[in-house]
Amino acid sequence: MNKSVLITGASRGIGAACAEEFAKGGYNIAINYLNHEDAALSLKERLISQYGTDAVCIRADVGEARDCERLIKEAHERFGFIDVLVNNAGVSMQKLVTDTSADEWDRMIGVNLSSVFHCSKAALKYMIPEHKGVIVNIASMWGEVGASMEVAYSASKSGVIGLTKALSKEVAPSNIRVNAVSPGVVMTDMMKDFDEETVAWLKDETPLLTLGAPEDIAKAVCFLASDEARFITGQILSVNGGFVI
Ligand code: NAP
Repeated sequence: MNKSVLITGASRGIGAACAEEFAKGGYNIAINYLNHEDAALSLKERLISQYGTDAVCIRADVGEARDCERLIKEAHERFGFIDVLVNNAGVSMQKLVTDTSADEWDRMIGVNLSSVFHCSKAALKYMIPEHKGVIVNIASMWGEVGASMEVAYSASKSGVIGLTKALSKEVAPSNIRVNAVSPGVVMTDMMKDFDEETVAWLKDETPLLTLGAPEDIAKAVCFLASDEARFITGQILSVNGGFVI
């Protein structure tokens, strides 16, 4: 039987690249999305026709605890078991901390961090009794070192790193591995608010002198999810061209 993966925020960007990489590996794919239904549906059709995998789209706002629980339940029921959970969905915001409202802070933490708690908790309900499962979280290099004007984002991603380390210790005796990939600058829609000059500066600041592609992150995620990584847990794998070392 094929293994199954649920990827949150898989309609676009890094999540969509992860879906494609897992499909190449023969996984059944549950594609979570929020706003971009057309993108999610066309990705699903492509994965089915190109790779012969089974795929399903599930709309859920991972910023809401109840949606996370429903999302996991629906994916579990559809495929029988979620072998791999990729907590990828995320939002960013560039703002001075003094201009950031309490609601904006709460939403950032809700979507980027609490979602990882809620989805992981719901998935572990099925994983722990089976004594198997893998969780890969998407952090950010700004969660490692902090970014000016991205205090809420950086804090949410630092939280993802802390959660990854603590959870990995807690569930390791149940044979469940938990790791994170921490991307550098990756050219997706998340970067579209940055002007050309800033993007060129970010490229210059990257020791490899190139920006990341969603596939670069997807390959690292698939590695951590695979049996090749059977002895790796609690780790934060930085995929950033050397930006943060
Ligand atoms: P993106 O292109 O903006 O895509 C974001 C994805 O997340 C979309 O599929 C979106 O779904 C989904 N999403 C957003 N809010 C959601 C919610 N409340 N519920 C469910 N889905 C939601 O971003 P990306 O660059 O691929 O980022 C993916 C992850 O990588 C994020 O966690 C981000 O923080 C992290 N990351 C990105 C970079 C970078 O440079 N791009 C660097 C470091 C870390 P819809 O479009 O359907 O709403």
